[in-house]
Amino acid sequence: MSKRIVILGAGESGTGAAVLAKVQGFDVFVSDMSEMKPKYRALLQKYAVAYEEGMHTEAKILNAEEVVKSPGIPDDTPLMKKIQTKQIPVVSEIEFAGRYTQAKKICITGSNGKTTTTMLTYHILKNAGLNVGLAGNVGNSFALQVAEKHYDYYVIELSSFQLDGMYSFKADISVLLNITPDHLDRYDHQLQKYVNAKMRILQNQTKADAFIYWNDDPWIAEELRKRTTEVTRYPFAKEKHDNRVVGYTENNQIIINTSKGNFTMEEELVALTGTHNLYNSLAAAIAAKLLDIRNEDIRKSLSNFKGVEHRLEKVARVGGVEYINDSKATNVNSCWYALQSMKTKVILILGGIDKGNDYSEIEALVREKCRALIFMGVDNRLLHNFFDGKVDRIEEARSMAEAVKTAYELAEKGDTVLLSPCCSSFDLFANYEDRGNQFKDCVRHL
Ligand code: ADP
Repeated sequence: MSKRIVILGAGESGTGAAVLAKVQGFDVFVSDMSEMKPKYRALLQKYAVAYEEGMHTEAKILNAEEVVKSPGIPDDTPLMKKIQTKQIPVVSEIEFAGRYTQAKKICITGSNGKTTTTMLTYHILKNAGLNVGLAGNVGNSFALQVAEKHYDYYVIELSSFQLDGMYSFKADISVLLNITPDHLDRYDHQLQKYVNAKMRILQNQTKADAFIYWNDDPWIAEELRKRTTEVTRYPFAKEKHDNRVVGYTENNQIIINTSKGNFTMEEELVALTGTHNLYNSLAAAIAAKLLDIRNEDIRKSLSNFKGVEHRLEKVARVGGVEYINDSKATNVNSCWYALQSMKTKVILILGGIDKGNDYSEIEALVREKCRALIFMGVDNRLLHNFFDGKVDRIEEARSMAEAVKTAYELAEKGDTVLLSPCCSSFDLFANYEDRGNQFKDCVRHL
């Protein structure tokens, strides 16, 4: 009898894991509480994987020898508790797939900047001619690619939820961009638990492996003091104020010094702008350098990268007002970076589902730069509690059309209307993409 693997959640990662488990010869069963998307149902049918949807049949699940859980499922559902009681090992799709590939893995995590840095690193590697796959939270699942493709390298975006289910997996190059409060609702409102999840990116790394991280992040620094790890460190920072820093800027140049040689580039030629993107570019360039990519290839890719949709994406200029879609800013820190990069007065549209936000982080920037705030959510009480009395104009909107119309009326020539919500979108929108797309549509119809 082959080992029974049960997969919970039939989205991108779950169906990918199911296909991989099937081709590896396991007895596979997929269970999803909701209805599956047709493309995922078709994929399971193509590989003759047994599945159910709209229910969890415990008799078919609790006999598993291992469970692969989608990162979207919290640990405290009744079914997950029964699985824990029965001591069935639970892993993430990335952990599972990591067992079946010899490819070099470049893994990227952090509270903010993961997708941008993952896409940028992939862009550099791909354009340098490497046989590389893009995986994790972006594109096709890692597991599906391991099952169907033969890449030599993978660039993998990892969320804290994926890291939670990882044990033996090892990154060849790990990148930790920053740690700021996020998803605290899934971590018992304890930042330390979330920090611990992020630090799992380092797990199993040896001296031969690389750890690229932001040197000035207080949480990362504290964790590195507490832990023993022999991994080779490659910290980056805006300036080289500390000898350990290997990626930094000086005299308007990006500079990288590694054991694999040095790299320099005019900062002005880097496509992505803003301090946060400088960090993302440094991280990606260090990774590329460690993979022996030629300097001219790194330079070319850093200068022609197009950016990622919904991240500080310029939409249009209407009546002398710039409209920027930063719908992916689902926490306060990413909004801070957005505001910090603004050179004009701002009408800020924010709100949605508040995951335990502390708005004091953006208070000074809001006071300095925001002409008005527009709260766009079903329940705006927490925003009112914090901002009332601190900004001259505060308005409410119950839809994107209303928010954009109000912003249009309040904005003066030369201003920027910025959608950077600090919150997730599920109260009024299907997801952050839907929120960003609606924003762009409304702006284009002004
Ligand atoms: P993630 O995948 O971690 O959510 P994204 O690349 O999608 O990150 O960017 C999410 C948001 O964070 C965007 O609003 C972007 O402007 C902002 N951001 C991007 N990189 C960073 C960074 N290094 N530090 C802080 N904020 C960032």
